[in-house]
Amino acid sequence: MLDSNILQNNLSKIDHLSFKCQTCNVGTKVFDRDKYFEAESAFSRNEFRRHINGIHTNIHKRFSAGLTSTNPDCKDISIVLGDCNSLIRFVTIDYEGQTIEAHIYDVKIIIYDIIPTLHLFDLGRFSFKNPDSSIIKELEDAFDVFWQSNDCSGMKIRSFLEALMDDNNIPKKTIGKAGKEVEIKLHLRIELFVKQFIKHDLEDILKNLKDFGNFASHSGQSLPREGLILMIKLLSLF
Ligand SMILES: [Zn+2]
Repeated sequence: MLDSNILQNNLSKIDHLSFKCQTCNVGTKVFDRDKYFEAESAFSRNEFRRHINGIHTNIHKRFSAGLTSTNPDCKDISIVLGDCNSLIRFVTIDYEGQTIEAHIYDVKIIIYDIIPTLHLFDLGRFSFKNPDSSIIKELEDAFDVFWQSNDCSGMKIRSFLEALMDDNNIPKKTIGKAGKEVEIKLHLRIELFVKQFIKHDLEDILKNLKDFGNFASHSGQSLPREGLILMIKLLSLF
């Protein structure tokens, strides 16, 4: 599981980012200064004109960073794309008995994409009944959009639950009172799944995931970051 500051998308320095290399499963992907590029956006250059004594109060940059595997036999690279926002803060410091005013920048890094898709937890330990199951794909999709949209990622986790039910042959449709085919709601599918496999400890986890997924897909509100991170943590318990 990734560090919670990374999951929160709350980094002050890009070189604080590192994760296990998925290519070799041996090395760690770490920041590589030679593979870093950043540029100030035109908006920042044109609009963030406010400055105090020639110092800009606000700077917006875009970056791409290459993180290289520490395993010399692998050296695989992941590319991270994002924004870097710096906001000035004035501080007074004591320097040789004198109080002087200085400025520092509070930096916030926002990741928008990691290529190739970074698995937020290890998928290798899962095995599924049907080799054509879309379970892994749904999880990878959830990880793919994790950095860009809480709602999209939450909806993909909901799709994962449907795929999990499919993989376990939990019926999708039934014949309703009018003799017509009706869809079985995910809530009921989870109950059928739990009844069949007697995994009662799983019921609460699955229903919580479903509730968060419903919130992301049809509540009309946005899924908070904390909610999405909780979903990922619940998934990693499987
Ligand atoms: Zn590697």
